[in-house]
Amino acid sequence: MYTVTILNNGEWVAPGTVIYLHAFGRHDPVKIVQNFFLVQGRGHTILIDTGIDNLEGYLTEEQIRRCVSAPSRTTEALLRQAGVAPEDVDTLILTHLHFDHYINARLFPNARIILNRREWLYVLMPENKRYAPRVGFPREAFGWLANEAWERLELVDGEVEVLPGIRVIWTGGHSPGHQMVTVETAQGIVIIPGDEIYMYENLEADIPIGYYYNFENVVAAMDLIRGMDAIVLPAHDPKVHELYPSSKIG
Ligand SMILES: [Zn+2]
Repeated sequence: MYTVTILNNGEWVAPGTVIYLHAFGRHDPVKIVQNFFLVQGRGHTILIDTGIDNLEGYLTEEQIRRCVSAPSRTTEALLRQAGVAPEDVDTLILTHLHFDHYINARLFPNARIILNRREWLYVLMPENKRYAPRVGFPREAFGWLANEAWERLELVDGEVEVLPGIRVIWTGGHSPGHQMVTVETAQGIVIIPGDEIYMYENLEADIPIGYYYNFENVVAAMDLIRGMDAIVLPAHDPKVHELYPSSKIG
């Protein structure tokens, strides 16, 4: 069994058309948070996605004034607060290669790094440059994965149990090689859906996300999440912190 700790870099804002499919008419900016997840148990220290530092640097002053109530926290500071040094992390699972989920991968010198094969290949192929422009897909971390972290990089396909009680499941809706993660805890199964849903409302009101690669796979992922009857921890919904004020499950 594992415990899952929700780490939150802080508050952020996203266009409504990213969070909700355009046709539903929810276009106003949406206040979001930037969560990533520390999983501990069975002698392992596992991180799911990397968080991102200096969230304010990605916002306008107007957005900061309207949406941000406290300064953002760095990934390293959050980990140290939880009693974990970056070098302690033995497994880093990346749900997908969008910058807010991978950009801090370089903090972890000892982790095996688990990534879907399709996700890795897709962002590296020059013919996909219109999918992965530099601004949203900073390549320094890709270079690091292909160089310093090469021996530790594990590409997976489909559904794989990466450690006993921890599975990655390819979903491929939000991005080509997007994967969700499930974790067995004393409170039941936890699903970390990555960005297949941004908000609980995507599931509850049945509104798919607006930023997707394959729409049918987004809808299939929503059905899969719903069918699992598990604790769902979205990466960007502030409501996670109301539902789990201790930030700990298991
Ligand atoms: Zn994403």
